[in-house]
Amino acid sequence: MQAPTHILTGILLLVIFQAIFPTAQLWLQVVVVLPLCFASHFIIDASAIITFHPPKAEWKDWFWVTYHLLIYIGSVVILVFFLVDYWWVIIVANLPDIVDWIILRAIFKKEPVLHKGADKLRNFLFRRTPNWNHKRWTVIIEFAIIGVLLLSVLLLINFT
Ligand SMILES: [Zn+2]
Repeated sequence: MQAPTHILTGILLLVIFQAIFPTAQLWLQVVVVLPLCFASHFIIDASAIITFHPPKAEWKDWFWVTYHLLIYIGSVVILVFFLVDYWWVIIVANLPDIVDWIILRAIFKKEPVLHKGADKLRNFLFRRTPNWNHKRWTVIIEFAIIGVLLLSVLLLINFT
């Protein structure tokens, strides 16, 4: 799925932990929440089969470009609000993308490594799920997920 989904999932995992264990020290938060954030990336990417996700960038398709522009702007806005307080969960929740798409593919021109795990998990968990990666309307699903995550994060931050 898209960066805002990963970012907000990482933040949500931390704020849920903080809501349940308000007196937990930082080291305990890191030990428990960090692996969850890392694992969340694979589960979310595996379930991305039900959202708009063409395997290759389609720069000539206005819909693809507009959608990704919105996603990037949304990511920046979310980072502006949350990066200072939640930087480590944000980094870890996005680490597989940072490693595979930025370090390996963009810088070293190599094949992704970690996303092979996400692909295997997808084949295992969602074998019978229809592949909607090319269906444009499924951006609604991604926006709905982002909306629910954002609302949950804001509610937990403000009422705990
Ligand atoms: Zn990913």
